[in-house]
Amino acid sequence: MEQSFSNTDSNNELRLIRGGLSFEPGHNNLLDLANQITISLQTTLVVDKQIKLSFDAIRSFFELDGMHYQHEAEHLRIRIGRMSKHSCKYQLSSQGEDYGQITFARAKRWAEEDLLAIEKILERLVWPLRNALSYQKAMNHAMFDHLTGVGNRLALETHLEREISFAERYKTDLTLVMLDVDHFKRVNDLHGHDKGDEVLIELAQRLDSSLRRTDALFRFGGEEFTLIMPRTQIASGRFVAERLLRTINSQPIAGLPITISMGLSQWHSQQSPRELLRCADSALYDAKHHGRNCVRAG
Ligand code: GH3
Ligand code: MG
Ligand code: MG
Repeated sequence: MEQSFSNTDSNNELRLIRGGLSFEPGHNNLLDLANQITISLQTTLVVDKQIKLSFDAIRSFFELDGMHYQHEAEHLRIRIGRMSKHSCKYQLSSQGEDYGQITFARAKRWAEEDLLAIEKILERLVWPLRNALSYQKAMNHAMFDHLTGVGNRLALETHLEREISFAERYKTDLTLVMLDVDHFKRVNDLHGHDKGDEVLIELAQRLDSSLRRTDALFRFGGEEFTLIMPRTQIASGRFVAERLLRTINSQPIAGLPITISMGLSQWHSQQSPRELLRCADSALYDAKHHGRNCVRAG
């Protein structure tokens, strides 16, 4: 029997499921919509995308102008559409764990059946959202140096790649600084490893608080740090670096007189992150050979 042709329907259904990112207007069945949301939310671990998918889904079901998701502890604030006259807010949590706050807004007053529909959808959102939040937390954790709290090598690579693409695209300047503590081995040898750690922690704090808002500090490894200065030519970068040098010199760090050396390099078009790092590193090498506690530009 050629009954298998009746599979056309399920093929259609399969196509719909595969394309789970798009929602067809006018669902007549809330359960359909909720199932579709469950499937599409499983396609991403990015919180922003999950919120956007939920927004699109809900909007295909009834009138909705805007949606706002907020998670204070994770520093997340996602706004989609616009906030309008009538809003309803939900706190998402389970077993004492906070998954954030979500607000829906529209011009029309909320009817009880709309709220019930929203709650059905939130029930489907909460578990994928929990997974996305855990994933994001793990990713953040993987990007920070545990000792000093600044971004680590992985964060540096990610950030530098992004800044270079931006500079290439918008034809802006970019200066990179490699920074190394002078004679740090002596600190460990004379005062112990814990004191050395203390110096690194305080140094990172002092550097970080002396930077301009647009600059970003990373621990490259050991007692070396990297500073990315977007939209900065080498002359102004040098000015900032000299100022940092004085800031470090001006007061002991963890009770010890600490000096640093710095090497700068300005990015040029087509230069890879690795090449830029190499140039700054060779300028740092220069600074070490010029007696340390100084800035050199390559
Ligand atoms: P230079 O002025 O030429 O940079 O000399 P230096 O002594 O700073 O450089 P060297 O590379 O000889 O020594 C770096 C030292 O940094 C050796 C290593 O044990 C120490 N170090 C690396 N990471 C850490 C850390 O996380 N904590 C502590 N306490 N020491 C560290
Ligand atoms: Mg050193
Ligand atoms: Mg070193």
